[in-house]
Amino acid sequence: MSVETQKETLGFQTEVKQLLHLMIHSLYSNKEIFLRELISNASDAADKLRFEALAKPELLEGGAELKIRLSFDKDAKTVTLEDNGIGMNRDEVIAHLGTIAKSGTADFLKNLSGDQKKDSHLIGQFGVGFYSAFIVADQVEVFSRRAGSPASEGVHWSSKGEGDFEVATVDKAERGTRIVLHLKSGEEEFADGWRLRNIVKKYSDHIALPIELPKEHQGEDKPAELEWETVNRASALWTRPRTEIKDEEYQEFYKHVGHDFENPLAWSHNKVEGKLEYTSLLYVPARAPFDLYQREAPKGLKLYVQRVFIMDQADQFLPLYLRFIKGVVDSNDLSLNVSREILQTGPVIDSMKSALTKRVLDMLEKLAKEKAEDYQNFWKTFGQVLKEGPAEDFANKEKIAGLLRFASTAGEGDEQSVSLADYLGRVKDGQDKIYYLTGESYAQIKNSPHLEVFRKKGIEVLLLTDRIDEWLMSYLTEFDGKQFVDVARGDLDLGKLDSEEDKKAQEEVAKAKEGLIERLKGALGEQVTEVRVSHRLTDSPAILAIGEQDLGLQMRQILEASGQKVPDAKPIFEFNPAHPLIERLDAEPDEDRFADLSHILFDQAALAAGDSLKDPAAYVQRLNKLLVELSA
Ligand code: ADP
Ligand code: MG
Repeated sequence: MSVETQKETLGFQTEVKQLLHLMIHSLYSNKEIFLRELISNASDAADKLRFEALAKPELLEGGAELKIRLSFDKDAKTVTLEDNGIGMNRDEVIAHLGTIAKSGTADFLKNLSGDQKKDSHLIGQFGVGFYSAFIVADQVEVFSRRAGSPASEGVHWSSKGEGDFEVATVDKAERGTRIVLHLKSGEEEFADGWRLRNIVKKYSDHIALPIELPKEHQGEDKPAELEWETVNRASALWTRPRTEIKDEEYQEFYKHVGHDFENPLAWSHNKVEGKLEYTSLLYVPARAPFDLYQREAPKGLKLYVQRVFIMDQADQFLPLYLRFIKGVVDSNDLSLNVSREILQTGPVIDSMKSALTKRVLDMLEKLAKEKAEDYQNFWKTFGQVLKEGPAEDFANKEKIAGLLRFASTAGEGDEQSVSLADYLGRVKDGQDKIYYLTGESYAQIKNSPHLEVFRKKGIEVLLLTDRIDEWLMSYLTEFDGKQFVDVARGDLDLGKLDSEEDKKAQEEVAKAKEGLIERLKGALGEQVTEVRVSHRLTDSPAILAIGEQDLGLQMRQILEASGQKVPDAKPIFEFNPAHPLIERLDAEPDEDRFADLSHILFDQAALAAGDSLKDPAAYVQRLNKLLVELSA
């Protein structure tokens, strides 16, 4: 045992303590995954070393054969995992094994309910990692030395997984990391060659470097010297032919590259040969990571060049709206010393990016077609992100639009499950537009007066209530040759859906009501840009339409929330001449009363559209005045 110096005890970051607690109590039924996590880390460490050694071969210290060794001691009840990867220095050990460096972690952990079943799902979103060692161990020791540091700068980290850990400086001859798990009582089963071998085969067969276990000697005398044998396949999964790879292997590989805990929804594995040569293996996760909407959240693919790991989170290969995709890309064209800067531009990257984007969109199309339920889950999880697509990726607009799902007047409740193809399959004879309405929530717009005429004519309207929908629709102008029309906007032209007679009748009414229109203009004054007879309404007395070019409510709210000054957009006041209230208004001789009534109708129309009133007190006063008169 070498001497320990500079020994100190440090407390875990609060988040680590919470996570440890959660892990130990919620992953009990799945405890063998600790080994997958530790092997995954050892494999990453080997990748990092190989990469750094491209520029500094001396880091290999003469030992270029990277591997992982797994051993156990039944009597001491320990399991030991050793790698000769990049290793960690003292500062790195303290940072990586004492804190969690993911932004948003504290907020995320606030969601914990204490209900183990629910929380174990949350942890899936978070990823497990190193701390999962404490599921089976009540003491964990880590001995590590960073490649290139002198043997005297080894680190010994030790913890019981409670509030704190110890670090000390020790001698460590070999570069890399050794992790010793002191098994909890009841977990001795893991100190067993057969058990470990099985776990490795089950979860880590895809790991590209050899995982060695001591050779088992049955019956015979054990040789004096320990013999090691490789128990995994030890070749990079994506380099193997598709037909030879089992689904389970794809799934386990995903958990390693995606740092995820659950199986993916779909994957696409492709080898491209020709002008460019590369292999890609892309996955659609089943669940959003907890930090999906964090700006700094990890995104991008794991980049390899000729089988050598180059970097994590290479975000140059996919557009932002596909940032939830995980996987690897292995290029034969890029140089081994490619840097993030070089990756920013260039024809190779551009052409890979557009091909990979297409692959992902194809994979999603296929998922939608073949596994509707899975696609629906995908949509719930990542639909909002995909909606950024039409604005970001002009070339694939139509393809992305085909992947969108909406709530609709013909759909089931507020579920976003109607595709544009579904919609087009149901259009009425003579309908050459796709109609939609935006608003704050489904509940708020499902009975909007804007829908009255569509309901009467049996025409489907898409109901768009996500925060970014109005913005999205400013980029989507048509699909399959049919224009999108916001039913709350402009002078709604139903085209062939209105018969010639309908149109004629509308014109005649408009003429007949010219007097009322003028009176209303006088009463509403500056509040409106126009007053006209509506053909949108069947049941409501009045409605406010948005000008063709004006910002809608959602966009105004988004801009205002981001501190921008938005010009006041004045609506168009449309009334329903057949409504008894309008007839009553038309017959009102008293101009003051006429004005009060008009304002009430205007304010009600604003409320029905989901807008707030500029002067709610005035509305209430006017209404009360009327009520008093009524009861008098
Ligand atoms: P993740 O792998 O998702 O980053 P982990 O909790 O599994 O999270 O590991 C935390 C960090 O600790 C790793 O990112 C790495 O920097 C470091 N680490 C863990 N195991 C090793 C190892 N065997 N060799 C070198 N570094 C390691
Ligand atoms: Mg890990």
